[in-house]
Amino acid sequence: MPDDSVVDELRGKRFVDLKPILKAAFKNFKLSTATIPITSRADKFELFKRLNQRSTVLSDQELRNAVHHSEYLNEIKGYAEKLKEKLRVTEAEWKRMKDVEYLSRLLAYQRRGYMDFPNKRLNQFLNDEMTIGKSEDPQSRERRCKIVEKALVRVIDVFGELRFRPYRIPDHSLGEWARNLNRALMEAQVWAFLDHSRYGFKDAGAFDTALKDHRLEIIDAAQRLHVYNERFNDAIQRGTTGKPNVEFRFSRYEAAIRLALSGVPEGRRQRFFTLQQKQNLWDKTAAEDRECPECDKPLIFEESEVDHIVPFSKGGETVEGNGQLLHRACNRAKGARWDPVDELQQDAD
Ligand SMILES: [Zn+2]
Repeated sequence: MPDDSVVDELRGKRFVDLKPILKAAFKNFKLSTATIPITSRADKFELFKRLNQRSTVLSDQELRNAVHHSEYLNEIKGYAEKLKEKLRVTEAEWKRMKDVEYLSRLLAYQRRGYMDFPNKRLNQFLNDEMTIGKSEDPQSRERRCKIVEKALVRVIDVFGELRFRPYRIPDHSLGEWARNLNRALMEAQVWAFLDHSRYGFKDAGAFDTALKDHRLEIIDAAQRLHVYNERFNDAIQRGTTGKPNVEFRFSRYEAAIRLALSGVPEGRRQRFFTLQQKQNLWDKTAAEDRECPECDKPLIFEESEVDHIVPFSKGGETVEGNGQLLHRACNRAKGARWDPVDELQQDAD
């Protein structure tokens, strides 16, 4: 028994150390078993659920583990173990099989897309994934695991330690990347990096190169989504399994990245100022003149952004002559809003 066992008499002892009366108690303990013939998976699931209501309740993933014994589930467990660091699974989460759940979520979205998500039924979505995956050939399953892993690696290449973390501007303060990991955001991030063809790249290599070259614009676009789109923040924080929220966060995240990369594959207009342009604007302004035009207070490089003087939507170009530095928080306070899907729509019109 472990040294922290709550049973004083047993603490730190082996079976041979016990008093004869205790040994006898162990030896004579009758363990009852019952055999219940169950044919359907649903019955089995229900039974596990009920048995669990009286002791430590199993997590949904632990229940799935008990019910969906399969080669596929074992493969997912193996992959989840391997991707533990990349998925940023904590020890406590790992004990409750959260790593397996997170990976299953990513795999299910990869297979079915987000439009197919059953409203408020994450469990059903994941159970379906188990059932469908079981009858798939092992090569396709492995291929899909690799696609998800690749997307995860891209998220890490772009966001590094900022991955799965929302950006926020608390009241009366400058912005910051939240410390807590947000799993709804994780889903949207990984989803957005699954497939190069969505963004018009000819192959995965060209996509990877563009991500390396434009990682700061992508981070900037993601940041804008958090700062200028309250609906997006809702969609990753409240009612995250509601279908409208699922669709909103996936579509907006993908659109934000599409805009950040616009001009890269097809030679379209550059949407965002690059870090170099921001640096140039900063450098050519005398130190005493580095003030925010909104609040007249001194600018801080990291917490400022370049705003189009003539708005992009009105034809304003993304060139230094059309840019001004201001506090991100001030831009937001003056009512700036941004919906990347609307903007893509305007571009198309
Ligand atoms: Zn300001």
